[in-house]
Amino acid sequence: MLVAGNWKMFKGTRETVAFFQAFEPPGGVEIVVCPPFTSLLAAVGRGIPVYAQSVHWAAEGAFTGEVSAAMLVELGVEGAIVGHSERRQYFGETDETVRLRCEAALEAGLAVIACVGETEAERGAKETEAVLQRQVAAIPSHERLVIAYEPVWAIGTGRTATPELAREAHELIKGLHDTRVLYGGSVKPENAAELMAQPGVDGALVGGASLEPASFAAICRAAAA
Ligand code: PEP
Repeated sequence: MLVAGNWKMFKGTRETVAFFQAFEPPGGVEIVVCPPFTSLLAAVGRGIPVYAQSVHWAAEGAFTGEVSAAMLVELGVEGAIVGHSERRQYFGETDETVRLRCEAALEAGLAVIACVGETEAERGAKETEAVLQRQVAAIPSHERLVIAYEPVWAIGTGRTATPELAREAHELIKGLHDTRVLYGGSVKPENAAELMAQPGVDGALVGGASLEPASFAAICRAAAA
């Protein structure tokens, strides 16, 4: 099982250090923390692998606001999230840029958590399968890459996919791509065990509940059990 905490745009360096002082990771589960760019260095070297929340595909160049894979490697960062739905929704991320970012990260030696997931409207229009097929087709295969299935309507909303619905989507994705698949979308200490017990669910990508050391540790313990 792999449990990754996506801190989104929360926690500067001081709060990052405080998190690690309080966080008691259980054994028997792979744990990753994904702070904002400016907090990466404060997180590295504290016993938990650190991933960035995105990575650019070029080695360097005129790409204001972006960070390259080599820059992350130099900091001691071990991986990156790519294609999070908030990147797709607010920052123009497309399947093509997801592919480019994944390839560059893998080439530089980083691990990748590549995100896919349908919106509420797409699910309502019965397009879930087509959307997941299209998004997954853009993601390269690599031993250092895992996919996170994150139904957009379940992210930060408190609405979680039912275990059956998660299982269905994970089976579909695994039929398209031979990789581990994490579930993401309002994973909390209360629902983590049931979600992660589903066949095809290989761990969790956790947003809000990864910000508190105690709740993130509880989710990690549920994964280890
Ligand atoms: C996420 O940011 O990937 C996520 C799943 O967020 P939340 O757990 O808050 O829904």
